[in-house]
Amino acid sequence: MNKKIWLSPPHLTGEEQKYIKEAFDTNWIAPIGTNVDAFEKAICDYTKAKYCTVLSSGTAAIHLALIILGIKENDEIICPTFTFAATVNPVRYLKAIPIFVDSERDTFNMCPELLEKTIQARIAKGKKPKAILLVHIYGVPAKIKEIQEIAKQYEIPIIEDAADTLGATYKNKKIGTFGEIGIYSFNGNKIITTSGGGALVANKKKYTNKAVFLATQARDKAAHYQHSEIGYNYRMSNVVAGIGRGQMEVIENRIQQRRRNYEYYKENLGQIKEITFTKELENYYANRWLTTILTDTFKTREKIRFALAKENIEARPLWKPMHLQPIFKNHPNYLNGVSEDLFNRGLCLPSGSNMSTKDLIKITNCIKKVSQ
Ligand SMILES: *Cc1c(COP(=O)(O)O)cnc(C)c1O
Repeated sequence: MNKKIWLSPPHLTGEEQKYIKEAFDTNWIAPIGTNVDAFEKAICDYTKAKYCTVLSSGTAAIHLALIILGIKENDEIICPTFTFAATVNPVRYLKAIPIFVDSERDTFNMCPELLEKTIQARIAKGKKPKAILLVHIYGVPAKIKEIQEIAKQYEIPIIEDAADTLGATYKNKKIGTFGEIGIYSFNGNKIITTSGGGALVANKKKYTNKAVFLATQARDKAAHYQHSEIGYNYRMSNVVAGIGRGQMEVIENRIQQRRRNYEYYKENLGQIKEITFTKELENYYANRWLTTILTDTFKTREKIRFALAKENIEARPLWKPMHLQPIFKNHPNYLNGVSEDLFNRGLCLPSGSNMSTKDLIKITNCIKKVSQ
């Protein structure tokens, strides 16, 4: 069997071990220590967010962001339907109600026009949404300018799920720093990894203070154990933060490598009439976490996917929209057909930053063979 080409495997430098060793040598094997502090500082320096709290996962970060903004049972939260379930699950941890909004075709992210219609429709029903959980999917920024204007007009805070999108920008400002709170993920398949982990960023100290408090069991200030709120065990370990410190040193290089993958695919497959790529919009800069293609039909998509699988190459259909998921199908949704179409015709191609040119040639040759 050929060596498997994965969709998006971890890509370590070896330098991470220096920081892990430091944690062992100083016996800071706890969710506190110099790696945690230095990793948070590195994220702030890089994103220009004022404050950062590193956590056990991106999902935990979304959960805490919702709690910090005061989300309670039966509150309505606007979410894109075209996302990973991890965006929406924390809404349900709180028994709040996700209101799903469909995508636009330029970026696959939440459609601004449909967002505004949705807000108006919910207000007409007598309930104003409490937050917009905005996702930037596959490393491509959503239409943040338009969405920010709508959020401002209706005075609804934005939480940015930038789990995939660390390093992407709009007008040179980092994605994840436009909302009240932003979150990143360092899961094994993301643009940089800590094996598992996440971060919450904000420009208000009270938010990150609250995040640390909630993530460490909500312990009140007292010599004994005193609690007046429900807490969580969500803090990142100092060992894992060492991996993050090492990874932050190479983030730009990882983004360049992923963007090169996208360019290579576009150059070599762009002429095939059954395949289309999305363009980068003016003023927007994607990290190209995953390169995605759209095929002319479901049948072509499956033909390509099976041909790749036969060569031991991992490719995946785009997200199945949340409004089609058994667990979320009964929540309100505002649709235009785009996300369902993307799900039927879209494919994520292998996009690791450690892929070789040989791998890229193999993948594109395989796709050319079946689609021409
Ligand atoms: C990966 C991902 C998450 C969850 O992050 P974890 O660190 O795996 O919990 C949330 N939202 C999106 C869009 C993701 O891709």
